Amino acid sequence: MLNKNFYDETYTKFLSAWGDESQMRMCIEEMSELTKELCKLMRYQKNPKSKENDDKLEQIRKNIVEETADVLICASQVKKIFGEKAVEDVMDYKIQRGRKVVDDYIAKQNK
Ligand SMILES: [Mg+2]
Repeated sequence: MLNKNFYDETYTKFLSAWGDESQMRMCIEEMSELTKELCKLMRYQKNPKSKENDDKLEQIRKNIVEETADVLICASQVKKIFGEKAVEDVMDYKIQRGRKVVDDYIAKQNK
């Protein structure tokens, strides 16, 4: 993976060159592309096994990797627009809350 500063500088350049609204619209577009690929994966996973279906699943998995990268790049710019520290603080809170829930769940399963 490239240096974090390179990413950060590039996000700043994208926002400066193309503007916040354009990048927010791009984020919406990329999120919908990822949504579509995830829905397709679940649909094709239910099909009977065949070479054609396996090939299709392989292509969908490649698309999911690409669309996930697109979403993360766009979400990083949205994070910059609305405040990186504010977003990271909420992430810290939510990951800690989620961690407690999952740890309690695992502890109950192991009783
Ligand atoms: Mg895309």
